[in-house]
Amino acid sequence: MTSPPRKICSYQVDAEFRITLVAGDWAKFAVENAAPELAHPVSLRQRTLFSYIADEATRQVYRAMFDRVAARAKPITVPLRCDSPHVRRFLELTISPREGGGFHLDSSLLRTEPRPYLALLDATHPRSHELIRMCGWCKAVQVNEDWVELEQGVEMLDLFGRNALPEIKHGVCKSCYAGLRENFGPHT
Ligand SMILES: [Zn+2]
Repeated sequence: MTSPPRKICSYQVDAEFRITLVAGDWAKFAVENAAPELAHPVSLRQRTLFSYIADEATRQVYRAMFDRVAARAKPITVPLRCDSPHVRRFLELTISPREGGGFHLDSSLLRTEPRPYLALLDATHPRSHELIRMCGWCKAVQVNEDWVELEQGVEMLDLFGRNALPEIKHGVCKSCYAGLRENFGPHT
């Protein structure tokens, strides 16, 4: 795809990270990305952004990026994947400072790639009590000590055709952590 980035979701948080405004295809996007609880923007208001992020490492990444944006008073942009069972979506997330405190967060779609249906990303597929760790930024999954592409992970863990699939637990893979670190901290 060569079309320019399409803004698909924008929101803003105040200085206490409470979500104060949501715009764009948020509801559609949330449902397609297996987060139906995020599909009702009204319920988002007054909750903090961090209350939606279960993983401690991911919270740290966000905090570090916010610190950086605030310290430099300049936006940062990082790559992000936001896949559905049928589509790989390559996005970028831009965090900008707001006058008077708080931040704007804008996600733009750069390109998409169709993929054969991947049950692991289908929120309606039955789940077992097992857990699989998935990088919230690039969608790699952890197999033992390694992080591998989703499809590769499904194959390595022999998840094809399973009646119940592991529950997804989000985290940050090593290579995203290293890449995101460039955007960390006010003094780096
Ligand atoms: Zn990653």
